[in-house]
Amino acid sequence: MKRVEGKVAVVTGGALGIGRESALLLARHGAKVAVTDINDEEGESVAREIAESGGTGKYWHLDTSREDSVARVFTEVAHEFGSIDILVNNAGIAGVNKPTHEITAEEWDTVLRININGVFYCTKHAVPYMQKAGGGSIINMSSIYGIVGAADLPPYHASKGAVRLMTKNDALIYAGDNIRVNSIHPGFIWTPLVEKLARESPEGLDAFRRGLDNRHPLGHVGEPEDIAYGVLYLASDEAKFITGSELVIDGGYTAQ
Ligand code: NAP
Repeated sequence: MKRVEGKVAVVTGGALGIGRESALLLARHGAKVAVTDINDEEGESVAREIAESGGTGKYWHLDTSREDSVARVFTEVAHEFGSIDILVNNAGIAGVNKPTHEITAEEWDTVLRININGVFYCTKHAVPYMQKAGGGSIINMSSIYGIVGAADLPPYHASKGAVRLMTKNDALIYAGDNIRVNSIHPGFIWTPLVEKLARESPEGLDAFRRGLDNRHPLGHVGEPEDIAYGVLYLASDEAKFITGSELVIDGGYTAQ
């Protein structure tokens, strides 16, 4: 059964990791997918993979922290595919990992510009298409770090906490338009983002990964597909009564 047949989805940060897997899964389930990212080669390759497996996908270069680009790309997507029904606000960065008192204003702003402003710009420019279509689903990628602290990555925590509450507030603002807005809170998922954190860690990649595995009661970090299935569910009409909710997919991390 195809679960999002005929819908148009925009996935930000769709070239790698969680975004890539979400774009591929949405396409496999019948959505026309706009794969957007700043990594053009990898993004083009995701769109090609979608086309080669019989789906509909196209790549657009999109830096979500630039409102002018967001407005232009969303206009082009709606022109190409007819509308926008699903928005996966996935693009994000980890940012600096220093204690709060050592972070510069520029380092702080860099994370907020992408992780918060990006979600704002994309939501702002997707909503009019969803209103016109009579509804839609917006899925915001927060994190376990938007729910609990971990004594690291201060601007990342701030940004993901903001995304969690932006989700609930937008859910209320747009409920009357039949636009559902939900957040997903992944535990550690083995993606290029986490691999980079592991490589830069003082203990080295293997020890870092073992340490992460042990922090999840299920005994290991997750895979991008674990999150993509959550995206697919929230995007589909199976979730038609779900809005303002937070879907935690974390191997038990926040249950402790
Ligand atoms: P990833 O492997 O780094 O992939 C994210 C993609 O988004 C990359 O291609 C990245 O490019 C791109 N990107 C960065 N800034 C962008 C911008 N301004 N505009 C458009 N694209 C941009 O990350 P991931 O691990 O899949 O994470 C995806 C989302 O899940 C993020 O919001 C992250 O915070 C969240 N999340 C991840 C985990 C995890 O453990 N992996 C856990 C909780 C939440 P660059 O490579 O150039 O940065």
